[in-house]
Amino acid sequence: MLMKRPILLCIFLLSQIIAWAQPTAIPVITELGLAQAPAGKLSKYWLQIASNSLSEPIYVPIMVAKGLEDGPVLGLTAAIHGNELNGIPIIQEAFRQVDPTKLKGTLVGVPGLNAISIPMDRRRFPDEEDLNRLFPGKENGDESQQYAWRIFNKIVRHFDYHIDLHTASFGRINSLYVRSDIYNDTLMQMARLQDADIILHNEGKPSAGQVVAASRTLRAEAMLAGIHSITVEYGDPQVYQPEMIERGVLGVLNTLSWLGMINRQVVPTPSAVVCKKSYWIYVDEGGLLEVPVELKQLLLKGDRIGILRNPFGDIIREYFAPEPGIVIGKSSNPSNGNGGRIIHLGVLR
Ligand SMILES: [Zn+2]
Repeated sequence: MLMKRPILLCIFLLSQIIAWAQPTAIPVITELGLAQAPAGKLSKYWLQIASNSLSEPIYVPIMVAKGLEDGPVLGLTAAIHGNELNGIPIIQEAFRQVDPTKLKGTLVGVPGLNAISIPMDRRRFPDEEDLNRLFPGKENGDESQQYAWRIFNKIVRHFDYHIDLHTASFGRINSLYVRSDIYNDTLMQMARLQDADIILHNEGKPSAGQVVAASRTLRAEAMLAGIHSITVEYGDPQVYQPEMIERGVLGVLNTLSWLGMINRQVVPTPSAVVCKKSYWIYVDEGGLLEVPVELKQLLLKGDRIGILRNPFGDIIREYFAPEPGIVIGKSSNPSNGNGGRIIHLGVLR
């Protein structure tokens, strides 16, 4: 009898450890249903968005903090480009800081919108499409078109306000900047709340030459549907940057304060440089590139922005700012064929 007690105790402890280690089951949904989400609580869901060739479901993680009082729906979407990760901890931390019992309205977070490309460390969808140029997508289109259609219709169309969280692409680094329509008062106000270095006017419409009907960004599609939407670029790809994350969380909390969803004053942030337009400057020959300017640096016309060398170290070409402006983003990859990017130049308003 005495021998049995330690064994029973061990079994009991083991069962407790197993119970503790089991994550709480997260419900699977097929569409975001805010009416069904419990008020005064944080809910986590797996939204089944697609299925792979082994018939296995692909899930998008969704967080919903629904207040006890009615109010607007603010949606946060991160990583539509699968290598742009700083937005994920911004959403996680914002939810940690929001008390659903004191919230007015609903905060929705999607910490991993491109659930197929994120585990593959890829910016693009497996079919090489850029999901953020595919909206509205197609209900019965190809793989990426269906994915775009579903994320808009099952998730994003439920928002009143929307922040799409991005970073730079591979081989480049970014300041913290907002892409928004600066001539729209509501969107400009949202942009000013984000603790950004730069606010760039950009309507999110397709650039010339693209097929207009199916090449909108998620932001442009949201705006067409009457959702107030901005894009924020937080630094660099495939990394977590504590400073960017902290400033991103401040921007989300400021947006919640401004919308009256949380009882907190908007925290003032340094005013951002406003740009009326921007463009990338490219090398016209291949070589090894040095970019001797810093992010956020103000440039005069003629300032040197690029030094291109051959493998022997000889300078083969130098590049200069064609007009005054600010460095929004820059290349971080020295290896460039002709057409490689040097800097993303913002032209001040
Ligand atoms: Zn992006």
